[in-house]
Amino acid sequence: MSGVQSTVSFIIPAYNEVENVPLIHEELRKEFESLSYQYEIVYIDDGSSDNTLEVLQKLASSFEEVRYISFTRNFGKEAALIAGLEHAKGEAVIIIDADLQHPVSLIPDMLKGFEEGYDQVIAQRNRTGDSKVRTGLSNLYYLLMNKLVDVDLKNGIGDFRLLSRRAVDSMLELKEGNRFSKGLFSWIGYDQKIIHYENVQRQQGETKWSMSNLVNYGIDGMISFNHKPLRICLYVGLFILVLSLVYITIMFVQVFQQGVSVPGYFTTISAVLFLGGLHLFSLGVIGEYIGRIYYEAKQRPHYLVRETNTTRRKIE
Ligand code: UDP
Ligand code: MG
Repeated sequence: MSGVQSTVSFIIPAYNEVENVPLIHEELRKEFESLSYQYEIVYIDDGSSDNTLEVLQKLASSFEEVRYISFTRNFGKEAALIAGLEHAKGEAVIIIDADLQHPVSLIPDMLKGFEEGYDQVIAQRNRTGDSKVRTGLSNLYYLLMNKLVDVDLKNGIGDFRLLSRRAVDSMLELKEGNRFSKGLFSWIGYDQKIIHYENVQRQQGETKWSMSNLVNYGIDGMISFNHKPLRICLYVGLFILVLSLVYITIMFVQVFQQGVSVPGYFTTISAVLFLGGLHLFSLGVIGEYIGRIYYEAKQRPHYLVRETNTTRRKIE
């Protein structure tokens, strides 16, 4: 294989994953016994309140491939991902969850894609075992995202993927603070290969996603990626303006032809409520954008490190 001695970096965000970290570590070690690659594993302890950090320190003292970065508090998975990307030194970087929902057995296929010259090898899961409601909602969400917001996203594709060195560097060139990685991965482009896998349910610990988290994440994704939603507000406003001009003209003619008639309560109240709702909605959309400008203007770092045994990769 031409990949002899290439280094692969793993990025594993871990937030309260004390049971899972030793398991995934074991699985990765086993997988690499039969692969001719060097590897390092960059764990990001995202401000866990359990003993994740102690487990990582222990792993690091026993195994030389272990790197860890421990945050001062919980900064969220997006921050953990960017920390991983900044610290990973390999020619190929694989992002994988700590909770064993991303099958380690896919790694040889990912590396094969890398050898074939793909810059992103993306794992796509099916949704077996997920609730019908959740599947339906996510289908609808992806439809809206693709058609309305114009971000090329596919259902079942998450952060589990391999990135080549130049794809990682491109990701790091995107400096925005408010990160929606799913969209950014698609935005950077490059040759992409998709491989499929069967959905796996979480065995240990709990998912960090409540329904309200998911809804907020969805809104974030829709609104923060480009200015299409503002465009949509503009079009809806324009449509209603034209419609009301037609209506006003008709009324005007009627008033002249038939004298003043008292318009009904129903039409008045529905116009007021409808337009009021629409105004608030559009204001909300604008507000979301302004809120984001506010955060970007602060230029805060994505995360703060309490303790680590590695360094950022120097950019040549
Ligand atoms: N995670 C993280 N910070 C957070 C939430 C989650 O680093 O604030 C990590 C978590 O430890 C796991 C991965 O991100 O390795 C995916 O999280 P989870 O399994 O809760 O999400 P799901 O698989 O349900 O999408
Ligand atoms: Mg999970």
